[in-house]
Amino acid sequence: MTIMSVNPATNETIETYTPLTKDETIAAIEKADNAYREWKRTSFEERRKVVSAYAEQLRERTDEFARMITLDMGKRISESVEEIEFCAEIAEFYATNAERFLADQPMENVDADARIHFEPLGVLMGVMPWNFPFYQVTRFAAPNIMAGNTVMVKHASNVPRCAEAIAELFSDVGLPDGVYTNLFIPSEFVEVIVSDSRVQGVSLTGSERAGAAVAALAGKNLKRSVLELGGNDPFIVLEDADMERTVELAVQGRMVNAGQSCVAAKRFIVVEAVADEFLERFKEAMSALEMGDPMDESTTLSPLSTEDAAVKLQEQVQASIDAGATVLLGGDRPDRDGAYFNPTILTDVTPDMPTFDQELFGPVATVYVVKDEQAAVELANQSSYGLGGSVYTRDKERGRRVAEQIETGMVFLNQPTNSQAELPFGGIKNSGYGRELSHLGILEFVNKKLIHLG
Ligand code: NDP
Repeated sequence: MTIMSVNPATNETIETYTPLTKDETIAAIEKADNAYREWKRTSFEERRKVVSAYAEQLRERTDEFARMITLDMGKRISESVEEIEFCAEIAEFYATNAERFLADQPMENVDADARIHFEPLGVLMGVMPWNFPFYQVTRFAAPNIMAGNTVMVKHASNVPRCAEAIAELFSDVGLPDGVYTNLFIPSEFVEVIVSDSRVQGVSLTGSERAGAAVAALAGKNLKRSVLELGGNDPFIVLEDADMERTVELAVQGRMVNAGQSCVAAKRFIVVEAVADEFLERFKEAMSALEMGDPMDESTTLSPLSTEDAAVKLQEQVQASIDAGATVLLGGDRPDRDGAYFNPTILTDVTPDMPTFDQELFGPVATVYVVKDEQAAVELANQSSYGLGGSVYTRDKERGRRVAEQIETGMVFLNQPTNSQAELPFGGIKNSGYGRELSHLGILEFVNKKLIHLG
């Protein structure tokens, strides 16, 4: 297997890395377990110092880390900067609040002195994707390190420079050896780790395929797991939406990270009364995107993460076109080097077409015109995914009513689904289970021990 940093804007290889052997992987587990014995005994104050220092360093060295993200996976540089700043917020959030989130909780309505006492579990495994190389890792590592667990991370094989930099940063700010471990390993070695009795749980963000494989391993070995998988988020436009703002948000929601986000808006469901206006404005706004070098601040459309990703997206889009979908914009790749894909809008997509229920990880929007609010809700729920979603209306009560009917883990009113340190993040159905971020994120991998004192 190859662990390589390839710049997707040029398809040039920047660096290759040697993966660990099986024996080295097992030795890393041993080290993480030994580190856990010490780390779980540290005070919140000691942990806070290190995690706050991690946040501080992210802020001080933002540009350096942002460049790494852009070179590894092609994200626009301004988005890479935002990602690093957001990671600093997440780390700071847990450094500040972990002690409060994990304080003993006396049981209510029990006629005894009984309480829930939170304790770390041990070594955890994180299997992470490339789309937000610092964010995905930070939202897993920061709460768990604050909780007293130790973490081992197998990052996606196309973002090794980011993977290495995160590990070095934790070490630089004084995190003891073995509390955070970067593993350059092939995905087959995840089994070695999850099946090891010293490892207590696994968290994976990625595709359904990877999620199902790792969840099966976790199940077989009776380990806790958290899965954050794909999404096919609805973006519901009702007739009383502020159209100018809604179209702006539609482009923003679909084009975040060149469309490669699990919570990007992917299915635009528009009531027929405003469909023509929406389509016209949306097409105009999507056409205005400027493809270019992601290091250039003026670029508004970057390449996809890899050449393979662009090829796969083309296949998915073409299969729907062949099956009768209408191309309102784009539909193909530009004639230039790099993993680029033209901004694309498809209409007339029907349930028998592949794009109807597949995650399209790139700048491709599907637009559905429906009769009314009820039809919009029904179509939104006609998906095997259940991650996020958003509703656009000037009427907050109406928005709440629609939000309550959407079968997903998150719904936002008049803003695309997004992630914030203090808000829980996660889905239902094939989008996975468990929650990250907020107070819920830190409770996933702790022992909620009952202590009954009579
Ligand atoms: P993957 O799910 O394959 O990769 C995510 C992580 O899982 C990587 O670290 C990968 O390692 C690892 N992995 C893959 N297969 C296994 C396995 N069988 N056992 C253990 N670990 C495994 O994502 P891709 O990069 O292939 O992207 C494919 C699609 O997945 C995208 O088009 C998108 O639809 C979805 N996706 C969703 C994401 C999200 O945020 N929810 C993020 C990324 C992808 P390695 O890199 O070595 O293969």
